[in-house]
Amino acid sequence: MVEQIGKSVKGVKCGDPVVLSYQSCGHCRPCRKGHPTDCERFYEANFGFARLDGSNALQCSGVRGHFFGQSSFATHALATERNLVKVPKDLPLELLSPLGCGLQTGAGTVMNSLAVPAGASIAILGVGAVGLAAVMAARIVGASPIIGVDIISMRLKLALELGATHTIDSRQNDVASRIMDITGSGVDYVVETTGDAKMYRLSMDMLNPQGTVAFLTGISGPASLPEGRKTLSVIQGDAVPQRFIPKLIALYRAGQFPFDRFVKFYDFSDINRAIAHARSGGTIKPVLRISEAQGL
Ligand SMILES: [Zn+2]
Repeated sequence: MVEQIGKSVKGVKCGDPVVLSYQSCGHCRPCRKGHPTDCERFYEANFGFARLDGSNALQCSGVRGHFFGQSSFATHALATERNLVKVPKDLPLELLSPLGCGLQTGAGTVMNSLAVPAGASIAILGVGAVGLAAVMAARIVGASPIIGVDIISMRLKLALELGATHTIDSRQNDVASRIMDITGSGVDYVVETTGDAKMYRLSMDMLNPQGTVAFLTGISGPASLPEGRKTLSVIQGDAVPQRFIPKLIALYRAGQFPFDRFVKFYDFSDINRAIAHARSGGTIKPVLRISEAQGL
């Protein structure tokens, strides 16, 4: 909830519910062309632990803030107009919170970065929160088949419910040959969310000769690729949060992007339990809630 605004802020007012996303400079060429995920100052804006002018709001305390342009792992956060998105008042704010990063990344990769057309085949490696957002987006754009790959059966089951036409447990199957069985010649698109070196190599083997693989975990593409195949290193699904998050909320309301199926709430004091459940795969997207009594 916006509590105070600076004097130049125009887009939000006190009392507005908002979600937070990544930061960008707003001035460089990619930002001006509408691709703030390619901001020339992306790294320092998000991981520089300072404002872009070098100042730091928390300097008196000796703690450095501004992680992702916000440092919101706290009861209060300082954000800018560029990395907050006003959201509807009638939806639970704690549910909307994950839209600003992982869900935007998964859905944006399919809808923006790859612009997957109807009828295209797609494999999604890792169906955690990012991968499941990609699965739901693939169903929305009409991709087929949609193949979810993971090692946790609960996630694979959920992927089927949310839009996957096939799933593969990569511990029990030869993933590339299963994908060849399903598609005949490999998939048109692979979305790699795991960061696992084995999956990274496998993604090349499951692409058809003109296919594209999107890497979402910061791994850069391989030095050499089989002819015709393309790789893309994707940040935040090439999404402009102020446009894309309202779109995801509208899809949620329409029942097409039911991400509430994998969000689970924990009291802040249960943070260790939330982490344990996330690590075991039992919870896909834990959200910590701070109760009134704890200071909000
Ligand atoms: Zn920029």
